[in-house]
Amino acid sequence: MNDNYMITGTESTMTPGLQVFTKTEVKKGRSKAIRVAAYCRVSTNLEAQKSSLEIQMSAYERIIHQHPGWKLAGIYTDRGLSGTAASRRVQFQKMIEDAKAGKIDYIIAKSTSRFARNTVDTLKYTRMLREWGVGVYFEEQKIDTGSITSEMLLTIHAAFAQEESHSISENLKRGVRSRFAMGIPKWSTTYGYRRISNDVWEPYEPEAAVVRRIFDMYLDGHKLPEIVQALENDGIPGPGKKNIWFAHSLSTILHNEKYIGDVAMQKDYTIDHMTHKRKRNRDASVTRYYRKDHHTPIIDRKTFADVQVMLEMNDPHKGAIQYPFYGTLRCPFCGEKMVAVSLPSRWHHQAWTCGGPSSEKVLRSERTSCPQFFVKNFYVVEGVVDAFRNLCRNLQEKPGSDFVAKQEKHKDRVMRGEVHYMFLLDLVESISFREGEDGKVRWDTLVVRWKCQAETTGHIEYRRASEIPVTKDSAELRGMVYYANGEPTNGQTNAYYSVQGLFEFCDKLMIHESFADEKVGSMSSVGILIPAVLAPTTTKVGFEGEVKYEGAKAARNK
Ligand SMILES: [Zn+2]
Repeated sequence: MNDNYMITGTESTMTPGLQVFTKTEVKKGRSKAIRVAAYCRVSTNLEAQKSSLEIQMSAYERIIHQHPGWKLAGIYTDRGLSGTAASRRVQFQKMIEDAKAGKIDYIIAKSTSRFARNTVDTLKYTRMLREWGVGVYFEEQKIDTGSITSEMLLTIHAAFAQEESHSISENLKRGVRSRFAMGIPKWSTTYGYRRISNDVWEPYEPEAAVVRRIFDMYLDGHKLPEIVQALENDGIPGPGKKNIWFAHSLSTILHNEKYIGDVAMQKDYTIDHMTHKRKRNRDASVTRYYRKDHHTPIIDRKTFADVQVMLEMNDPHKGAIQYPFYGTLRCPFCGEKMVAVSLPSRWHHQAWTCGGPSSEKVLRSERTSCPQFFVKNFYVVEGVVDAFRNLCRNLQEKPGSDFVAKQEKHKDRVMRGEVHYMFLLDLVESISFREGEDGKVRWDTLVVRWKCQAETTGHIEYRRASEIPVTKDSAELRGMVYYANGEPTNGQTNAYYSVQGLFEFCDKLMIHESFADEKVGSMSSVGILIPAVLAPTTTKVGFEGEVKYEGAKAARNK
């Protein structure tokens, strides 16, 4: 028999002897009480708000207990959150889940604005709840979603609540911005610092020591994953809740101007107060502020500036792969800076070519009339190491000089074949190739001018003839074999397309001038222009010697 009704049989009063069966609804007893939940929310962590929350909670508890036929299904509270993104309201989400699981029959909330902060959300959740048979009562608006006609009212009230939320976040924004304009930054958790009071931030030595170590290691040429490994090996807990180090957390630290005591304000801004979506403020759509010497630095300005240059030269997201030779490696034809480029997929190598004089022009062919050529990075390193070896053999400098001290400092690493930025910065004036007596460039001899006025050469042993930098006038096609510098290249058809392809590729190289304006470090203290060279992406190599490059990256940057 069903729980909800019972069938009673009685004898008909009209026709004696006739049994009449009727269905009677069973009235539910106290155990079938309506389970009522309450939802409370305060939007800040202020003491006043906290006590108001407690008052609200106890009021709801009392109301539910005193109401006949009601039973408390739980009080759900969220606090200290701005409330515009419903997904972050943990207790609210739990309440929705409990309602879905059939644990709640009815919900009481103070007002539509406390329930959800925009019309769409309010309607979404109340409709959802109604589908599960759960009604919501909004105390302030006296709306019961159990009755269908209330939807209209609800829409209107929710719309008002949304407008209110918008103005609150606008006010908040204005407040923070006017503080920025007065040079008062907003504290955000920064590894290495602790906030003593609102405007007083102090280095926290255990973490500050780690920050110094990170900068030193990076300056010393270590890659980010190597630094992560070193920190993990020493059991140093990382920043953030999980205490794990990531390459990107190191990158954030290395870029952060707070470590030199400065604060950049309005680095990003909120574009949508409903989703809290933020946008990088690179173009200063919103006024940016920069305050120098705001607090005690952890890193000196020179170290920071050098690190910024290294980061810039090494940032593949910007198409910059200029590390470490940009600035020192010079074109053998015109003496301008050479730029690094990733050769198309077939070559899988980083190589250097003439970047021409700095100009607004983007295509390499428009910037320079130098012959097209590529020297693989690998061979430049080889030549520099050999030149360093020759320097060590023949150096006339007196022992103990500044130059010799720096030379000693870098010696071990360079002898191991590791050339990095600080070595070049400390010791090298310029690097180029020698011109032979016939006026042609000797690609196998690298000339390094050292900062002590000495000059040594390094020998380069190319593994394949096709790797020797080829210029158009030194290349010729005989039959199906391509001859570079008078020597046949190793392949046949492929080599033809590869050498031909290089020339085409070179013409289409996009060279972009500095990204310096994007970064405070580069603006104020570094002032070195780092170009990004964007290589066109290979999409098709035609069979009639026609090579097409569809510049995906180039198109994106137009
Ligand atoms: Zn040149």
